[in-house]
Amino acid sequence: MSIAVTCEKCGKTLKVDDKYAGKHARCMCGEKLTIPLPAVTSKFEQAVMGAEDAAHKDGKKPSRVEVKDGEVFYQPASFFSFLKKPPKSAKVRHPLLNIGLSGLEFLTSEMLVEGAALALTVKLAGELYPLKMKGTVKWVKKSEKVAKMNQVGVHFTKVPADAAAKIKEVTQKVV
Ligand SMILES: [Zn+2]
Repeated sequence: MSIAVTCEKCGKTLKVDDKYAGKHARCMCGEKLTIPLPAVTSKFEQAVMGAEDAAHKDGKKPSRVEVKDGEVFYQPASFFSFLKKPPKSAKVRHPLLNIGLSGLEFLTSEMLVEGAALALTVKLAGELYPLKMKGTVKWVKKSEKVAKMNQVGVHFTKVPADAAAKIKEVTQKVV
């Protein structure tokens, strides 16, 4: 199996053997590259995602719950983002509206585009540790409740098992 790495500087895509995952390489242009780790989905995540898919097929709404005093931080998701200084937006708190195993909604005054990949950090009220996950912006609309704010719907693309377990706990507590 090979992993594709795209050089941020020259845009060339290199294919390397997955035994080099997590290691560094140098592109032909001289840019230092970090070979990403292959995406791993745990059995727990598969079970969770499977249940969600089944619920979708049944025509049920995804089980999202409204949360109070939750906060969302985000930055563009990139294999290389950790090599650079985090953008300012990574430190801005955005009010979390609701969360479920398949995604979340939050409010922001920033302009996000549909399809944008985000690395998310979610802080739930009363929880010591923030949850980290990745997602894609599914839709952006003007908030009907808060002036000059956009409501953003995010569909999760990667939820680590610990975050999935916490979301499950939160959604079951309320329902
Ligand atoms: Zn390059």
